[in-house]
Amino acid sequence: MMSQLTQIQTKRLAELAHLLRPGWDVPGIEAAIRKAAEKAPALVVARATLNLAANADAVTPGMLPLPGRHWPVDDAGVSLLPTSHNVRCPEHPLSVMPCPQCEAKRTPPPTDDPEYAAMKAALKARTRPQTEQQRLASFNPRPADGSE
Ligand SMILES: [Zn+2]
Repeated sequence: MMSQLTQIQTKRLAELAHLLRPGWDVPGIEAAIRKAAEKAPALVVARATLNLAANADAVTPGMLPLPGRHWPVDDAGVSLLPTSHNVRCPEHPLSVMPCPQCEAKRTPPPTDDPEYAAMKAALKARTRPQTEQQRLASFNPRPADGSE
C-alpha cells in the first residue's frame, strides 16, 4: 500500500534485524515489515524495526505493526506511527487529506469557457423557491379586519 520500501529493501532490513535477533527468522520479520509499511513511511518503519530488534523484551517481530515504544516519536513526543484517523490521499499515500499536492493541482473554473459563462448566468437568473417561512408569512385566508 503506502510502502516506500522495495522488496529488496524489506529483505535487507529483515536480514539486518535477524543479525541483531538471530532467534527471529527472516520471512517472519519481512512479513511484519510489510504490514508495518502499510502504515508508515519507509524510514520510520526501518527505525521501528531496529528499535524493536534492540528491545530484549520483544519476543517476536509480530508486534512491529502494532503501536508501541519501538515507533520513533517526533519532537513533540508524538508517535510517527500514523493513527487510523489520518485519511491518506489515494494518489499520494504519504500525504494526509486534505492533500497539499492535490490542492496545488486544482485549477480554477474555466471563466473564459462560453458554456460555463452561460451556465453561471442561468444559475444567477434562477429565482429562489419560496421558503416555508415566506409561504406561511404570506398565507392570509381572511383579512385581519374581519371583512369578507
Ligand atoms: Zn494527493
